[in-house]
Amino acid sequence: GKVEGVELVDGTVIPATLVIMAAGIRPNAGLAKEAGLTTNRGIVVDHAMRTSDPDIYALGECAEIGGHVYGLVAPLYEMARVAAGHLAGDEAARFVHVDTPTKLKVTGIDVYSLGDFADGDDREEIVLRDASAGVYKRLILKDDRIIGTVLFGEVADGAWFNDLKKKSANISEMRDTLIFGPAFQAGAARDPGAAVAALPDDAEICGCNGICKGRITGTIKAKGLTTLDEVRAHTKASASCGTCTGLVEQLMELTLGDAFNRTAVQPMCACTTLGHDDVRRLIVAKSLKTMAAVMQELEWKTSCGCAKCRPALNYYLVSDWPDEYADDYQSRFINERAHANIQKDGTFSVVPRMWGGITSANELRAIADVVDKFAIPTVKVTGGQRIDMLGVRKEDLPAVWADLGKAGFVSGHAYAKGLRTVKTCVGTDWCRFGTQDSTGLGVRIEKFMWGSWTPAKVKMAVSGCPRNCAEATCKDVGVICVDSGYEIHFAGAAGLDIKGTEILGQVKTEDEAIEHIAALVQMYREQGRYLERIYKWAKRVGLDEIRRQIVQDGEKRRAYYDRFVFSQKFAQVDPWSERVSGKDKHEFRPMATIGFAEAAE
Ligand SMILES: Cc1cc2nc3c(=O)[nH]c(=O)nc-3n(C[C@H](O)[C@H](O)[C@H](O)COP(=O)(O)OP(=O)(O)OC[C@H]3O[C@@H](n4cnc5c(N)ncnc54)[C@H](O)[C@@H]3O)c2cc1C
Ligand code: SF4
Ligand code: SF4
Repeated sequence: GKVEGVELVDGTVIPATLVIMAAGIRPNAGLAKEAGLTTNRGIVVDHAMRTSDPDIYALGECAEIGGHVYGLVAPLYEMARVAAGHLAGDEAARFVHVDTPTKLKVTGIDVYSLGDFADGDDREEIVLRDASAGVYKRLILKDDRIIGTVLFGEVADGAWFNDLKKKSANISEMRDTLIFGPAFQAGAARDPGAAVAALPDDAEICGCNGICKGRITGTIKAKGLTTLDEVRAHTKASASCGTCTGLVEQLMELTLGDAFNRTAVQPMCACTTLGHDDVRRLIVAKSLKTMAAVMQELEWKTSCGCAKCRPALNYYLVSDWPDEYADDYQSRFINERAHANIQKDGTFSVVPRMWGGITSANELRAIADVVDKFAIPTVKVTGGQRIDMLGVRKEDLPAVWADLGKAGFVSGHAYAKGLRTVKTCVGTDWCRFGTQDSTGLGVRIEKFMWGSWTPAKVKMAVSGCPRNCAEATCKDVGVICVDSGYEIHFAGAAGLDIKGTEILGQVKTEDEAIEHIAALVQMYREQGRYLERIYKWAKRVGLDEIRRQIVQDGEKRRAYYDRFVFSQKFAQVDPWSERVSGKDKHEFRPMATIGFAEAAE
């Protein structure tokens, strides 16, 4: 059918060819309401963040102030500042509403919106629309002042429009060129650097933390800052959502000139001045085989590292010394420690491996029995062609795994920076279009590669023909079967970033396909930075360099492959059955319930 209109409850029909539904957020004020506090859209507070009971303060998304509820961090930080001021005795601290610009943070879609852009007789609009370039800009003016801004496609001038709006600046003098942004004022030619230079010192750069240009440039000069991380640490600019990072870097360029090098090595964390690549290189060059040795030899500034470097070092050591290094599970994040994914209510989800997405009546029966026995509330089929049991209590995990283990299941590593799934289509087994046994190849790859730790998660897929039903061309590694063999793809993404794969090369046999894939993954294991997905690593290292080492240089490929096979000897241990046998027992012990009297002692 075709949309012709929207009928309202009162029977009115509004003609329409397109209907867009927008659902916002609504604070959950139930607890406050039950406690007898005044609530409306949220928990009603005064300008000092006090609720209707002056001994109770509320702030954040749940609070309603002057009829507004907020869903961005900038006003919430301000609420926190006001509440803290009051608690510390500053009676003058007051929350004042300010329009907060919103930027959409979805790769490839640049949208900026600010202020009021509803139609009105007293308003004027200036619109620039360049459909083929994907650019749309709209300024809403009232009495020669900007009251609203919508930018699509090109959003760099948002800070400047925001500044004019905040200052209620009269724009009549620059009306002709206003929509082109600060770079075109006073007849200047387009230069993005000039636009940032033209911003006044009090122009807001970081909307989340309310940091102005002058504060950033002043701190860079006063403290001699030279890296983005230092600027973030000292000013908080670009340290929250990160969308103003480009502007902050331009300010650094402006302030430091040649002394600012965008590509300068970023230290791994505050514990060291070394970047990830140097640390990896030195671990091998100096034969550093324990975390303590790395920290001592590479002169770590802290005694035992931090939450950023410990998981990274643990991975580098596991990857470089598979037979010698004892995995330090305390250095892993919660999901890898618990071998399950923690959910928002503190329970866990359990995903057993289903090789290549294939299952059987016996497996499904075993899952059904586990779901009944442990009263698991939700069972869901995942995007990776397996079954997720959600809502399992942590203390039940070993028993759940024991029952699943009896049916032959092992961990699906759905929580791991390691091989997750190998999705397949039915290929020549069932499909009329199948050119090869895509299911069989997928199962072989998964059985060969499961258990391997990688810098970040790895998802794979094998499609039996170019129709690509297993969606192999957006995976970390994918195979498209063709009549003459197997086309190997890599470096795709389908998460926060969307990216089609690149072709690594084409091979004739399954064995060759597996050798190429394992060698590619081993190269990534040895060179990737912790948490860097394959597509980011490939961009950094260069696609041609990867093809040269894996496809053209047979000796190198074989060496990578052999190292992968060697490391699998130590990696292919099912973590679930280990824990069923009692390993890390304390991790799964239920929390003790203690009474108030006991707690007070
Ligand atoms: C995907 C996403 C992206 C976002 N991106 C941005 C962005 O780029 N820029 C931006 O400015 N804003 C962004 N936001 C909005 C911003 O994150 C929120 O406005 C902000 O985090 C809200 O902070 P808060 O402290 O009010 O609430 P929350 O951060 O939601 O904290 C509420 C806390 O209360 C706890 N809680 C709830 N009920 C109870 C209870 N009964 N007892 C005890 N504890 C309880 C919750 O577990 C939670 O920890 C984003 C939001 C989302 C969801
Ligand atoms: S990818 Fe090709 S072989 Fe596989 S199910 Fe689809 S059409 Fe069939
Ligand atoms: S897309 Fe992933 S991270 Fe986002 S809500 Fe769904 S499960 Fe959670």
